Amino acid sequence: MRVAPAFLILNLLLLAAPAMAGDVVLVIHGGAGAPPRAQLSRQKEAAVRTELEKALKAGYAVLSKGGSAVEAVSASVVIMEDSPLFNAGRGAVLNANGQAELDAAIMEGATRRAGAVAGLHRVKNPVLLARAVMDKSRHVMLIGDGAEVFGRSVGIRMVDPAYFITEERKQELAEAQAKENQKQAAVPVRMYLGTVGAVALDRSGRLAAATSTGGLTNKRYGRVGDSPIIGAGTYADDHCGVSATGWGEFFIRAVAAHDVCARMRYRRDSVGKAAGDVLDGIAKRGGDGGMIALDDRGNVAMPFNTDGMYRGIVTGDGLVQIAIYRDSAPPKARK
Ligand code: ASP
Repeated sequence: MRVAPAFLILNLLLLAAPAMAGDVVLVIHGGAGAPPRAQLSRQKEAAVRTELEKALKAGYAVLSKGGSAVEAVSASVVIMEDSPLFNAGRGAVLNANGQAELDAAIMEGATRRAGAVAGLHRVKNPVLLARAVMDKSRHVMLIGDGAEVFGRSVGIRMVDPAYFITEERKQELAEAQAKENQKQAAVPVRMYLGTVGAVALDRSGRLAAATSTGGLTNKRYGRVGDSPIIGAGTYADDHCGVSATGWGEFFIRAVAAHDVCARMRYRRDSVGKAAGDVLDGIAKRGGDGGMIALDDRGNVAMPFNTDGMYRGIVTGDGLVQIAIYRDSAPPKARK
């Protein structure tokens, strides 16, 4: 596995000037698993960009009307879950049994309220169930059948498990399993292709973060990654919000999303330094991936140490910017 040195990661930090009070910012990712540039067809790139733009506009529509950061990140993530292009909801990668097994989380910074779900097979939009856990239950995390029973009781839409499965993901699973058989050992195949996430700052200065994923191709049945673990793949407090993507086991052990916010709180690190240093630490231990992070003044960081991370931002003026590789025009908050 290739790990980028620290300076490269720092190079990728997209630092923005502080937004004005009342400005809104929404930043999203579609996973740090973009293929090397030569392998991404123009059609696929165009399709991904269209979906990211749709997701940004859906969240912006909420924020520009004075809606909450929680509402905005839910709206963006739902669009990406519904798209077969990302590893979340429809089009999620498949576990070793050939099933889509979905995880998601959402957190509101100001109140520290959070909801998370894992191991779902029937919930059309896992982020909406995570939100229902936050809003309508006494709990933070529900898993598997219990989560789905709760979902039904609060009117969350269920679908047949076949809804999630696409031909492309079936092929990826077959390839991953063939590779593993060749090596005749349980080598983890880390194909994370498009976990989705969003972090928003609303007009009242409140932050929220959400992440939704199918996890890793060929993962064990029952495996849970970092995305639904509050503090690992998803976290928000009153001055920082983070959504991560990458090799989840490393992000869990690093308690990555919380560590970014803790560094900002205790060490007064900027969002760029905090996110870059946390990802650097993960890289040193052999993990890879990326994250999006936003502070309460609208400063943004989007570091990654893989070939590319699908990512985008929309600022208060409605300007939408999207990037995939390092040399694409970097999205920046413009204020
Ligand atoms: N972090 C996710 C997981 O490990 C995968 C991803 O980001 O694509 O479940």
